[in-house]
Amino acid sequence: MDFKQQFDVIVVGGGHAGTEACLAAARMGCRTLLLSHSVDTLGQMSCNPAIGGIGKSHLVKEVDALGGAMARATDRAGIQFRTLNSRKGPAVRATRAQADRVLYRNAIRQILEGQENLWIFQQAVDDLLLDGDTVAGVVTQMGVVFRAPRVVLTTGTFLGGKLHIGMENSAGGRAGDPPSIALARRLRELPFRVERLKTGTPPRIDARSVDFSGLEEQWGDEPIPVMSFVGSAAEHPEQRCCWITHTNERTHDIIRGGLDRSPLFSGVIEGIGPRYCPSIEDKIHRFADKNSHQVFIEPEGLTTPELYPNGISTSLPFDVQVDLVHSIKGFENAHITRPGYAIEYDFFDPRDLNYSLESKVLPGLYLAGQINGTTGYEEAAAQGLLAGLNAALAVRGQEAWCPRRDEAYIGVLVDDLITMGTAEPYRMFTSRAEHRLLLREDNADLRLTPAGRDMGLVDDTRWRRFEAKSEAIELERTRLAGTWIQPGSPEASALEPLVSAPLTREYSLLDLLRRPELEYTDIASLKGEPVDDAQAAQQVTIQAKYAGYIDRQQEEIERLRRHENTRLPADLDYQRVDGLSNEVRQKLEAARPETLARASRIPGVTPAAVSLLLIYLKKRG
Ligand code: FAD
Repeated sequence: MDFKQQFDVIVVGGGHAGTEACLAAARMGCRTLLLSHSVDTLGQMSCNPAIGGIGKSHLVKEVDALGGAMARATDRAGIQFRTLNSRKGPAVRATRAQADRVLYRNAIRQILEGQENLWIFQQAVDDLLLDGDTVAGVVTQMGVVFRAPRVVLTTGTFLGGKLHIGMENSAGGRAGDPPSIALARRLRELPFRVERLKTGTPPRIDARSVDFSGLEEQWGDEPIPVMSFVGSAAEHPEQRCCWITHTNERTHDIIRGGLDRSPLFSGVIEGIGPRYCPSIEDKIHRFADKNSHQVFIEPEGLTTPELYPNGISTSLPFDVQVDLVHSIKGFENAHITRPGYAIEYDFFDPRDLNYSLESKVLPGLYLAGQINGTTGYEEAAAQGLLAGLNAALAVRGQEAWCPRRDEAYIGVLVDDLITMGTAEPYRMFTSRAEHRLLLREDNADLRLTPAGRDMGLVDDTRWRRFEAKSEAIELERTRLAGTWIQPGSPEASALEPLVSAPLTREYSLLDLLRRPELEYTDIASLKGEPVDDAQAAQQVTIQAKYAGYIDRQQEEIERLRRHENTRLPADLDYQRVDGLSNEVRQKLEAARPETLARASRIPGVTPAAVSLLLIYLKKRG
């Protein structure tokens, strides 16, 4: 059956990539259809109920800055919020929220169902409709044909999904959900490069069977952080505590004793797992000298006693899972509500994509999320948003929007994926960004919201908030720069206990804010009224304190941009470039990048190393 209504953009999959993709396209005015296995699992968190964290919250805030849903849903569903790295510099500070799984899903569904231009239909997609060598729509399991010139595939872990618990395995997209077999088969017929990856999840535990008495409590931060630039702590539901426990020698012995029945170590699983989120059997194998690993015990929600023991993801046989859980302090009598398992799935080599996430193999088709070899909700959401907005731009006949590495973590993510591909599930870290002092989570809106507004992604409410904040920053900066404190004045005396030496000359409040020992709250009300906007005060402070470093990074970017097309000779002898570390030399020799820009993108090739290359090329003439 041919569905009568014609769409501009079809999005397949209602996970974290798919929901952001369809919302973006619909916000931009495209008639958009979201097709997913089940309306009830839209926005479902397949694994741990948490959003954000180091590197990841940067992506969440960028998605938010472009009008996306993830941060807003997190504010409505978060039951514990923390700022990670709060004592470190602003570049690596990150917000993390423990979320109530059901509240999160409900919040996403509410946002989807409130979106104009968006239609939702529950049905598995089994086939792509082609028109010559471009995509023209999709065909569902029931045989319904939906037509659109742009299709975004965000099928996550579902393509050819295979679940493993011990030596048993079964087909599935994740526990309780069907896999996507017909579509996987169809995609394998097309000239895509397909590989297998794997990931895993821990057994869940009933809180009523846990002895919390000897466990370390971990509460969220006060004041409670907020994820969205337009969110507020008043939206947060009741806040909950987490706990910390540890594995021990006995746990490790139990795991070692079960390795012969581990699908991971007996060669049953072929896909490569996430290096930074390894299973407990993997950790014990890789870090054999450690006799204990931390386990964070996180509530799954406000209305369920289920707990997520973060740190013991496993695909060991169930009897081994029971013994290993019972060996952990607090879990001696724990009841497992769901077994841990691993899943293997198909992913497509992201080097077959353009920066817009459109396929080079099949024009009109966009891929986003775990299907591109990434792991994590945030990485998926960021790609979904980009694919959705680029599909919409293409419908309008406009050029693709592809943020650069120095503009957004989204740019870093996509550039890494499409230039280097990935052999293991890719996750974001702040260390992947060369210019991380510019790409802070706190300034994602300043970096991206104007571009989002131009494309039609940012609604009037968000835009007004953004304009008010930008104006408040400017006014406050001007006020601080023009307000002077005289030596010997009452204001200078008020500062004396806070500064190393009394003021000997006149200082502006902005100069004083640059001092490491002084905070905004110390100086803002010495003379005049401080700004009544916490986000604006934070911006003024960071811009003042890190002005020197920020300017230097900006100069570096300008210089690199001027020289990014400078060619590196194919026979360049990297041994002769003074000052390069051996590691960088080896990487350059192995990759032989064609241009300076490409060299700068090789992980480990720092901006300083690029400068050395530039100096060498100039000398060489
Ligand atoms: P998903 O969230 O998987 O969503 C895919 C959506 O597509 C689903 O709604 C599905 O129903 C739909 N769909 C699929 N095929 C079709 C079709 N043919 N037709 C219609 N709809 C379809 N991430 C981490 O960061 N760390 C971890 O430790 C971790 N462990 C994980 C463990 C397990 C067992 C699983 C399953 C996932 C784990 N993840 C982990 C990954 C995390 O869940 C994903 O990164 C994230 O959900 C990816 O989002 P996505 O939108 O790409 O896909």
